[in-house]
Amino acid sequence: MIRVGVLGACGRLGATVCTAVAATSDLELVAAVDPRACGVPVGGLVPAGSIDALEAAGAEVAVDFTEPAAAVGNLEWCASHDIHAVCGTTGIDAAGLDRLRAAFDPSGRPNAIVAANFSLSAVLMMRFAELAAPFFDGVEVIELHHDQKKDAPSGTALETARRIGAVRALSGASPFGEDATTTVSCEGARGGVTADGIHVHSVRLAGLVAHQEVLFGGPGQSLLIRQDSYDRNSFMPGVLLACRRVASTPGLTVGLDALLGI
Ligand code: NAP
Repeated sequence: MIRVGVLGACGRLGATVCTAVAATSDLELVAAVDPRACGVPVGGLVPAGSIDALEAAGAEVAVDFTEPAAAVGNLEWCASHDIHAVCGTTGIDAAGLDRLRAAFDPSGRPNAIVAANFSLSAVLMMRFAELAAPFFDGVEVIELHHDQKKDAPSGTALETARRIGAVRALSGASPFGEDATTTVSCEGARGGVTADGIHVHSVRLAGLVAHQEVLFGGPGQSLLIRQDSYDRNSFMPGVLLACRRVASTPGLTVGLDALLGI
């Protein structure tokens, strides 16, 4: 049994992780931590207010779903207490990743896996988009989310566009075709354009959760890659996989691709 502690246990994702870990036979939920100290049991544990609870409970792996301002410090604490870390908190910048690379030295232990999207369908969608990138004349990304989402476009859409652009540039294929639109009668009709010149469209509607389409086009044909997350459980198989694999994955790993062998 792998002994797991969860940081951000009172949050939406953290509470879901606590429940998933507690229900998994080869994992044991030994600590739940959240400064909010909500007092409501998650996965059978009442959350503690301090990260010290991880060490007291003998956690081998800590899962962090908190906020960017807290996550890097939390993971550095794990590194200095010999606890492996799995982090799903989004918005960690390049400087934060540099700190984590320094904290989780591949020549020693513990290790860390940081992924901005633990949904296997989203990870595969981005990989499939990379595979298609050299073979079409154009591509557009349409991301669709619930109507309470604050940012647009989504981080996953931006990352998809970045990866498509990087593969296209490396492949030797000509750049995607220019946009022939000359008249736009409704501002934004052609969406936003990323640094790689890829059009991204953001749909916000009640009833949606998190969805994305990557639409490639060429003469007489198109390819649509679509991914849907219907609820937070979509992230759990990826989180549980990372909990199982982090001890044998040296240093800092960013993204789930390497764990999936894709
Ligand atoms: P949330 O409901 O706001 O939960 C975050 C929780 O973390 C809150 O209870 C917060 O407490 C707590 N927290 C803050 N600092 C902490 C610390 N130092 N130690 C322990 N707990 C701390 O947010 P959420 O919707 O669960 O999302 C959490 C993160 O996961 C976000 O960054 C989100 O973008 C990300 N996310 C990732 C994926 C993925 O697949 N990787 C999927 C969905 C969401 P307070 O309220 O008291 O600050």
